[in-house]
Amino acid sequence: MSLLQVDGLSIHFGGIAAVNAVSFAVEAGEIVSIIGPNGAGKTTLFNMVSGLYRPSAGRVLLDGQEVTGAPPEALARRGLSRTFQNLQVFQQMTVLENVMTGCHLAEGGGTLGGWLADLLHLPASRAVTRASRERSLALLERVGLADLAGRDAGALSYGQLKRLEIARALATTPRLLLLDEPAAGCNAVETQEIDDLILALAGEGLAILLVEHDMKMVMRLSNHIVVLDRGTRIAEGPPETIINHPEVIAAYLGGH
Ligand code: ATP
Repeated sequence: MSLLQVDGLSIHFGGIAAVNAVSFAVEAGEIVSIIGPNGAGKTTLFNMVSGLYRPSAGRVLLDGQEVTGAPPEALARRGLSRTFQNLQVFQQMTVLENVMTGCHLAEGGGTLGGWLADLLHLPASRAVTRASRERSLALLERVGLADLAGRDAGALSYGQLKRLEIARALATTPRLLLLDEPAAGCNAVETQEIDDLILALAGEGLAILLVEHDMKMVMRLSNHIVVLDRGTRIAEGPPETIINHPEVIAAYLGGH
């Protein structure tokens, strides 16, 4: 049984199939990448797997159990977490507080607003806050940002913000992490740091589903690649197969 199984997933927007009957699986500790030209449906597929969009057809299974259409909080409690293509960091909070927002969700604490209210006013929540704080510091250590815990997130470099997002996504203790363009906008050094972090996390048994435009990074990291073009899966396989696949080459060169 696969950790994640995506089975014939489709979604239509105004009669147009943004994703059309896409299937693939992710096993524990595996890095699977979704690639394809702009508009191929990669983020839309992510949004269905992570519970943001309800598919028009098809199923999402975690550990063999159907979770299609389950909300992101429920998926987080079952071990699925994600980051977003555009940074979702709270710039005016500290680095540590940003990760603590993720811990609060993991503890089933509900909304971010509730967490802030807890943090600021309610004595009963202090024990939870202390535990979250320790866990968050450990996660910051994990992504190499522990020294910056007390800084305002707004003061971080772009690459550091990308790693902060990964730390926050790890706060829910996922077994499957969806990373939407983790290296977008990063320079070569920052990309290498993210690259190393992804490999280390997978080495610890975390499964990773990756959307990324940096093909060198995709080829370096992936165990398996799924190629989308105009919503349809046109190829899948290990990097060495994909890089020489005629349909993939044609799709990237716009030859259709
Ligand atoms: P990129 O690499 O540029 O990020 P992508 O492969 O992630 O592209 P998507 O963003 O998933 O592609 O978009 C796939 C298609 O679905 C596009 O044609 C897009 O315009 C359409 N689409 C995505 N979300 C919506 C929406 N909420 N409403 C209508 N159309 C949408």
